[in-house]
Amino acid sequence: MLSVKGVHTFYGAIEALKGVDVEVAEGEIVTLIGANGAGKSTLLMTICGVTKARRGTVSFTGKDITGKRTDEIVRHGIACAPEGRRIFPRMTVRENLQMGALTSDPARYDHNLEVAYTLFPRLKERENQRGGTLSGGEQQMLAIGRALMSEPRLLLLDEPSLGLAPLVVKQIFEAIRQINAERRMTVLLVEQNAHHALRLANRGYVLVTGQITLTGTGKELLENPEVKAAYLEGG
Ligand code: ATP
Repeated sequence: MLSVKGVHTFYGAIEALKGVDVEVAEGEIVTLIGANGAGKSTLLMTICGVTKARRGTVSFTGKDITGKRTDEIVRHGIACAPEGRRIFPRMTVRENLQMGALTSDPARYDHNLEVAYTLFPRLKERENQRGGTLSGGEQQMLAIGRALMSEPRLLLLDEPSLGLAPLVVKQIFEAIRQINAERRMTVLLVEQNAHHALRLANRGYVLVTGQITLTGTGKELLENPEVKAAYLEGG
């Protein structure tokens, strides 16, 4: 469904991605793990068109989307909940969700709002509260809910568990499982919380300084001694 081939992405002279290949098949949850600065966010940004690849291609459902504008990519069926959530702090929960629906069919709005509220009842309870006054976990729910408003086929999630308490992390991972199992959305998940993410994922990739060094099923990576030593011990 998603095919990233030989992607090189630069920030000025810094080569953040050095020829990355990643495949995501329809219906999968695929996770990308890696240390700080490995290039995980850069890969998601490159897929959704915020950052441009200098070389290589990104294709989605057989169409080349390399270098397209983000709004065009959203129309193709990809949505992103970015790192740091990037919700609109002065807008209410409901207005934030409306922003996620800008590119989608207005006839689907009520349905998609219902999907977001069913998944995260807390958002419904707080629909008139300003985004900036939500807790970290609620803001993450809002960022995911907003991404769901475009009814994507592929959902990109950048470190959804970052900075959240263990119980909230559990809720967020359970929501991701439901989005995949019940809403039939394909998920590409970037995480530093490797243990949770690999348990949830069908497959995973390890990114080290801009290159994929390992790939396998979630189970294989969880049992891999290098992964254990670098990403799981003490975690
Ligand atoms: P983290 O988990 O800390 O967010 P990451 O794996 O997502 O890390 P990226 O944010 O993709 O890593 O960063 C990859 C590399 O690119 C890093 O060396 C980073 O310093 C560099 N980089 C990222 N954004 C920029 C930018 N806007 N300008 C210059 N360099 C950048």
